[in-house]
Amino acid sequence: MLLASYEPEVILPPCDFTRETVSAIGHIAGDISPVFPYLNAIIPGAEYQPAGQVLRFKWEGHLVTLRPNEMAAAGFTDANEAVEFLARLQQLINDTWERRHTIQPSTVQRKRLVATDVYRLLPRTNCKACGQPTCFTFAAKLTLGEVTLDACPALAEPQYAEQRMKLQEMVANAVFI
Ligand code: SF4
Repeated sequence: MLLASYEPEVILPPCDFTRETVSAIGHIAGDISPVFPYLNAIIPGAEYQPAGQVLRFKWEGHLVTLRPNEMAAAGFTDANEAVEFLARLQQLINDTWERRHTIQPSTVQRKRLVATDVYRLLPRTNCKACGQPTCFTFAAKLTLGEVTLDACPALAEPQYAEQRMKLQEMVANAVFI
């Protein structure tokens, strides 16, 4: 087991308990960084910085930051929720480590999508079939992970096959946090 135990620390907001502002840190005595390339391979949109040994990703709607001796997460409504999340995160780390022989590790450093780069590859007809008022709005939402390429039916047309392929590659290598 890579992560046998950790010391939880819950960080409460100074006064405003009405928002999701509780954070939690799990202080780890060992080094969990060997699992980072495996998590980077299986978690879509993860942001990996191999030089600094930092892995960030969104999981179960919470922003997670892993460092060799620390796992941190934010966006909880209370301390219990935060502590339970840390336990599930420990499970994720250990499960991934256990099945590492079945995962191709990845040190890919994904980049954030740029709306104008996405826009250039869209059909740019502003047909609204995706439910967005313009193609640029769709592009902006895609960069935030709020829509997927499948939501644009026009991209399925044969004349946009090459653009669709380029967009799929961009999305596969993008950070969504
Ligand atoms: S469906 Fe595609 S082409 Fe039509 S507005 Fe949306 S993004 Fe643009």
